[in-house]
Formats: sequence, structure tokens, C-alpha cells
Amino acid sequence: GRRPLVAGNWKMNGLRSSVSVVEAVRSGLAPALLDTVDVLICPPSTLISSCVAATYGSPIAIGGQNLHAKPSGAFTGSISAEMLADLGASYVIVGHSERRAYHYETDDGVHAKALGARRAGLCGIICVGETQDEREEGRTLDIVRAQLAIGVPKGATGADTVIAYEPVWAIGTGLTPTPADIAEVHASLREMLGRLIGPEADKIRILYGGSVKPGNARELMAVENVDGALVGGASLVAEDFLGIVGAY
Ligand code: 13P
Repeated sequence: GRRPLVAGNWKMNGLRSSVSVVEAVRSGLAPALLDTVDVLICPPSTLISSCVAATYGSPIAIGGQNLHAKPSGAFTGSISAEMLADLGASYVIVGHSERRAYHYETDDGVHAKALGARRAGLCGIICVGETQDEREEGRTLDIVRAQLAIGVPKGATGADTVIAYEPVWAIGTGLTPTPADIAEVHASLREMLGRLIGPEADKIRILYGGSVKPGNARELMAVENVDGALVGGASLVAEDFLGIVGAY
């Protein structure tokens, strides 16, 4: 079976004092849970180093929220997968809808970044998801399948790739799809993964993201083909994040 992953995406939140949230998650995690579920926190790049130090010797992983596809070069302001790995990060989020919307990331760019993550030994969390208009037009499956088909590198494995389904309209809104709607999308993504990479598709975790809270985590995580959560706002509060991890 696939080992579930609960990942926190802090987005552009957190000063040095916020490392205390990571410390609180570390001390609040029941040891039994760590046999059951992988836990990841993706703070802003400025805090990766101190979050890695704060989780030293614990199974909590630290990841980046974005990367440049190239290993190094004249790309002012950008950070490569090698740089994230050098800090002790082990995952990186790729193609989050906020990057697609505000930084014009394309599916081809997502593909290049996923290759960059793999090159540096990071596990890439490739995000897909439809907008409200696309859902209302009945295009959800077409959109997410196309994002997957272009974004996921050939030869992707369960060790180097995670998929996150995040409906854009569910992010930060308190709205979520119904469990039946999530099941339909995740089954379709799993089927598409099978076409792309064959039997290894069964090893790739597909997370759900968008308004996951302690109060709905159990219901959402129980949906077929949902292998964990990508958590935004609730990951900024240790008690809430722990409540979501505790759904496993
Ligand atoms: P919220 O959990 O705040 O809705 O954010 C979801 C998200 O975008 C995680 O990447």
C-alpha cells in the first residue's frame, strides 16, 4: 500500500519565530503516528535551514515551495533543486496553482521543474487542479488529466513523485468538493498515471488539497485513492496541523 503523506504548505507566511510551530509539531506528534504517516512541512525558503535544524533526528521532512528548473546560473532571485537539497530539504512543491496564476507557470515549465527536482534527489509534489469556471463547464477531468500528462516526467516513481489535486476554488475558501467528486478526480488521475508510467502508477501518492481542516480531514482522507493532504492555512497552527495528521 501507499504510505500516506500529510504536507503543510506555509506559502509566504512565517518569520524566524515561526520555527516554533515546527518545534510544536515535532513534540506533539504521537510516536505511533509516525509509523503510519509521512509528515512534511514546506516553509518559505528563508526558514528551510532553521526548520531542518529544528527537525534534526525526527522523521518530519522539510521541503521547498518552488524551484528553478536549472541547477545554477544567471537567474536572479531563483533557487535551484540542488540548493534546496543542500539545505536538507527532501521535497519540493511544483506548479502550485498560485505559481501558475501569479507567476505564469505552464505545464511545460512544471515538467522542467519536476525533472530538476529529480535531478537533485528531491521528491517533487506536482500540483494540478481546475478553476471554478472550468468545473462549471464540466471540464475538470480534461484539465487535470492534461496537467498531469504534460507535467509528470517519464519514468516517474513513487519515490520521486507525488501528485496533489487542489481545486483552485477550494484553496483558502473553506469550500471542498464532495467526497464523491474527489473520488472521481483521483480515480481519473490514477488511471492517467497508469497510461503515462505503467504499473508504477500504483505507488505514486495522490494528495488532496484545498481547505483541509481538522474537522474534515478524516472524511477527506478516507476517500478512495486519497493518499494524504496538502494543507495551507491549517498548517500554520501546530494544533490544527497535528489534528489533520491525527486523522490517520
Ligand atoms: P488551504 O488549505 O489554505 O485551502 O490551502 C491549500 C493549498 O493551497 C495548499 O497548497
